[in-house]
Amino acid sequence: MHVPFVDLKAQYQSIKSDIDSAITQVITETAFIGGKYVNQFEKDFETAYGVKHCISCGNGTDTLYVIMKMLGIGEGDEVITVANSWISSSETITQTGAKPVFVDCDPVYYTIDEIKLESAITGRTKAIIPVHLYGQSCDMKAIMQIADKHNIPVIEDCAQSHFSTFGNTNVGLFGKAASFSFYPGKNLGAYGDAGGIITNDTELATRCKMYARHGALVKHQHVMEGINSRMDGLQAAILSVKIKSIKQWTVARQENAAKLASLLTGTGDIVMPQVRPGTTHSFHLFVIQTAHREALQKHLQEAGIETAVHYPTPLPLLKAYEYMQHKPDDFPVSAALSARILSLPLYPELTDETIGYIADTVKAFYARK
Ligand SMILES: *Cc1c(COP(=O)(O)O)cnc(C)c1O
Repeated sequence: MHVPFVDLKAQYQSIKSDIDSAITQVITETAFIGGKYVNQFEKDFETAYGVKHCISCGNGTDTLYVIMKMLGIGEGDEVITVANSWISSSETITQTGAKPVFVDCDPVYYTIDEIKLESAITGRTKAIIPVHLYGQSCDMKAIMQIADKHNIPVIEDCAQSHFSTFGNTNVGLFGKAASFSFYPGKNLGAYGDAGGIITNDTELATRCKMYARHGALVKHQHVMEGINSRMDGLQAAILSVKIKSIKQWTVARQENAAKLASLLTGTGDIVMPQVRPGTTHSFHLFVIQTAHREALQKHLQEAGIETAVHYPTPLPLLKAYEYMQHKPDDFPVSAALSARILSLPLYPELTDETIGYIADTVKAFYARK
């Protein structure tokens, strides 16, 4: 059996006729950039998410940059984010001219450690970017208490956490604004690059939209210099088709995660993903820990099961941040996890048979040891 790490073909087959006709419509109407399909998707996302404003952008990296620029962040400022994330969370801080300040993660839920967060705040801290990693909600109550106490805006990185909830509220609705990626492999994915900003702050929304469209809301009336970060009509039309199924797909991810966890619990030294109490996890990734990561990964590969590591090196220890001279001891939890974590295939379309095959293959690895 071959089990790909992500299977976008199965999902396409399940919605093929709607996707194909959406694509044909966009091309027939030549609604390539901006226009009705992009406006429609922004409305669809606002309604589904329960937020006043969605500003579509070119990808989920630009979105972080645009929000920070429009909050006035730049040279001399510091922005706090988490040590274990994708580089977008920190490279966009540097792009604004500010300095990324990394905070270690929690050993159980893998999100930013709230206690270490507070001690990283200085007089220069201008924003906090928590990342709802793997689909796990950060502790937004603790984070908002700290942020409010110090009067620092929070920008939630929701690239991996579409429709995850904290309490009864979708993540992304706690901070000043939130950033989403619609990269194909994300829980709500386009067929190319796409991203979106959400906020309930109308003034910030207007400024973000303007900045992402060359500083002009009306053609040729450039109020400021901006950037070009637009979603194209094809991606928007595809996303409008896919958003109709997102709730159902999220439930299917959660059900598949529960099945895989129940089959694997108690196997060897495996540590199962934990869901923070009072939250729902959207299971963008199903991440286990083991001391035998390389050997298990090889065993699964030989059985046709693709896996991945998110991420093999904590951000501050990457070559890109060598100039900061961080040591693994500065981020002991992230550094230890990076050698132990393994992401198993997990998507809505996994069948019970495939889940059983993954579990049996993992168990065979430990039986052999
Ligand atoms: C995917 C991702 C991004 C960036 O999204 P792109 O659309 O690929 O630019 C940002 N942050 C995190 C945590 C991500 O996983």
